[in-house]
Amino acid sequence: MATIFSKIIAGEIPSYKVAEDDKFYAFLDINPLVKGHTLVVPKREVDYIFDLEDDELAAMQIFAKKLALAIQKAFPCKKVGQAVIGLEVPHAHIHLIPIQKESDMLFSNPKLSFSNEEFAAIAAAIHKAWEENAD
Ligand code: AMP
Repeated sequence: MATIFSKIIAGEIPSYKVAEDDKFYAFLDINPLVKGHTLVVPKREVDYIFDLEDDELAAMQIFAKKLALAIQKAFPCKKVGQAVIGLEVPHAHIHLIPIQKESDMLFSNPKLSFSNEEFAAIAAAIHKAWEENAD
């Protein structure tokens, strides 16, 4: 059975997409730790990130690097932190989290909630920076 992330990639479930190429899809985490919290997912469905092929993992990290630069452009922050957990959704993904301080990365923190319009505006801002950086 397809994972929820495969359904998102296929467009069967809505998401706030920020970037995509032939191998990877990036969208806003629906329960964000901070504004701009984004997930990077390989289109090929693999549960554990360290089961990806070497070239696939390398390409995913490069995609995440480019996206982190776009996130930081859209939402100025000290750094974009990266985390891999994967205990909830069995489809490999990287969390990219714009942080001002270490505790912004704590997954036990209360999650933020945004309206549809706010999520859409956040996604649009990151997407715009992603497109600008590609020029
Ligand atoms: P984990 O597998 O522990 O890395 O956590 C999965 C992450 O996916 C959590 O941060 C969830 O908020 C996020 N998530 C789960 N379902 C969705 C969805 N439909 N759209 C966006 N993010 C989601």
